[in-house]
Amino acid sequence: MKSGIKGRIIQSTGKWYIVQNDDGTKTQCSLAGKFRLNEYERTNPVAVGDWVEYESQEDGSGRIHTIQDRMNAISREATHGKKGTQMIATNIDLGIVVQSLIQPEFKPGFTDRFLVTCEAYEIQPLIIINKVDLAGKSALNYLEDLKVLYSEIGYELLPCSIYDEKLLGALKERIHGKTCVFVGPSGVGKSSILNAIAPEAQQTVSEISSWSNKGTHTTTFARLIPLENGGAIVDTPGIREFGLVDVKPEEVDLCFPEFEPYRDLCRYHNCLHSEEPDCAITKAFDDGRLSASRYRSYLNIVESLKQSQSSKNRP
Ligand code: GDP
Ligand code: ZN
Repeated sequence: MKSGIKGRIIQSTGKWYIVQNDDGTKTQCSLAGKFRLNEYERTNPVAVGDWVEYESQEDGSGRIHTIQDRMNAISREATHGKKGTQMIATNIDLGIVVQSLIQPEFKPGFTDRFLVTCEAYEIQPLIIINKVDLAGKSALNYLEDLKVLYSEIGYELLPCSIYDEKLLGALKERIHGKTCVFVGPSGVGKSSILNAIAPEAQQTVSEISSWSNKGTHTTTFARLIPLENGGAIVDTPGIREFGLVDVKPEEVDLCFPEFEPYRDLCRYHNCLHSEEPDCAITKAFDDGRLSASRYRSYLNIVESLKQSQSSKNRP
């Protein structure tokens, strides 16, 4: 049987994987037994987005024998009482958080949490501010403030409106050829944007819900929706819980790039930068050298991680 056939996992049910080759051919594949034994902390050894090699079988299916090194992987805590983490997608080029300025208003906490997650997973983030067509003067001023705030830290921010072909075109161009994850609060226009840039998205979303209704595979079903001119969007129910699985409270400061010049100047090396004496980050915030909204997000994230840690440690 021919082996070493290369492709990418574009769909997964947990047991079966659809692997797509460069020429577009799709093959249903199973996984060689050896993978099930290693990486015991994960409940699944491969996920959507993985580049693999497989061997063709007599019945036309494939058997995955090699998994290529990943650029990154998004995980969440395993469900159904299983221990460890479950990988939900790998090799993500862009983590995209969609927000709007009004209806609903921009949420700095949500945005910063997502940016921390991207830092932790080593995913390049992109902030989209949608519905700019609705923005009046003060909302547009706020947009400018946000652009300055985030671009100074090194984060890219793109304004968008589904009614503006030019802005949509710029977005399409930016994500061309990339594997993207889309996240955002409800009502900001994620589905509208996806429908505008990936015509297959709508169909896929409804397919998934009818699938889920059958009650099987719900938590592991995932797929890549192809973009018109190359690239893909990760579509999985788990993506909505895209949380801070692997981050400890004392590591959150590492995920705020603008803290970099101050981090090592605190009196205590394990400083959490909230109420400790001689904290360089608190001081930088007091002096206006760090943004108040970013510092508030930092404190909120640390606090919520501490709470979830202590609830886990409870007997
Ligand atoms: P989702 O919950 O994030 O998927 O948001 P939807 O795509 O369902 O959009 C929520 C509402 O906002 C719908 O009524 C859309 O028509 C509307 N909407 C989405 N994008 C825009 C936009 O760029 N401008 C305006 N004015 N409305 C939009
Ligand atoms: Zn400190």
